[in-house]
Amino acid sequence: MRSISELSPSQARRVKYVLMDIDDTLTRQGKLLASSYKALWDLRAAGLVLIPVTGRPAGWCDLIARQWPVDAVVGENGALVFWEEALQGRDGLPVLKQRFHPLAVQNSDPRLKDILKEVLQIDERLRVAKDQPFRLFDIAVDFAEEEPVLPLDTAVRVAELAKSRGAHAKVSSIHVNMWMGNYDKLSMAKSFLCEQFGWDPVAGLDEVVFIGDSPNDEPMFAAFPLSCAVANIRNYTHLIKHLPAFVASRDCGDGFAEIAGHLLALRSGGGGPRREGL
Ligand SMILES: [Mg+2]
Repeated sequence: MRSISELSPSQARRVKYVLMDIDDTLTRQGKLLASSYKALWDLRAAGLVLIPVTGRPAGWCDLIARQWPVDAVVGENGALVFWEEALQGRDGLPVLKQRFHPLAVQNSDPRLKDILKEVLQIDERLRVAKDQPFRLFDIAVDFAEEEPVLPLDTAVRVAELAKSRGAHAKVSSIHVNMWMGNYDKLSMAKSFLCEQFGWDPVAGLDEVVFIGDSPNDEPMFAAFPLSCAVANIRNYTHLIKHLPAFVASRDCGDGFAEIAGHLLALRSGGGGPRREGL
């Protein structure tokens, strides 16, 4: 990983889309920082398209799509994308649009319930995340969002067991997410960029900056040449094969603001895609 200060002006000027993880990328200890939230507004003011890509539930994504200064949000590790859209030819309020991955399997699937029972036996302190009632497709096991915080090794064991039983599983900085459908953050983010913005998935790879912090961001790190991480990625480098190209010196939301600051300073007036209706 190279320092984000090595991003070049020509690289920065080609960027049209800024995608980012949420937990421990925009937040620290669960709170959205003033620095990172301001950075979102600054990026938006510069005409960049902003899309959080998160493991958080559908219920949170409804709020984020409606309330945050973003163009869309991909949630539940790629099971869904929500965004607001102006009705054509009208000046009124936008409507919330929802797209669900065609391979998404509802989390009431009995196979997933059985896997949950089994993984919870790994350590009696593991528990279902408290945002579970707002999830449609995955089950989140909390190991570090609340006390007791359990070792990362325990989370890795949960993910390995879930995968050995036929689920997909990813470790974030706080949860292990498990789901049955064949999708991830990357597949949904790419298909949405193509369909919504006419993005070219071959020629346009360097139009996308992705910023993340942990192993569940790895498909995004691997796909985008301008992938970045906040400094707390260093807690997980032993679990990640495809590290991001760039890393911030600061952690969590302050690292996100640092990356945004470099990007905006280097662009120095370069234009991004125009946004309509927001
Ligand atoms: Mg994260």
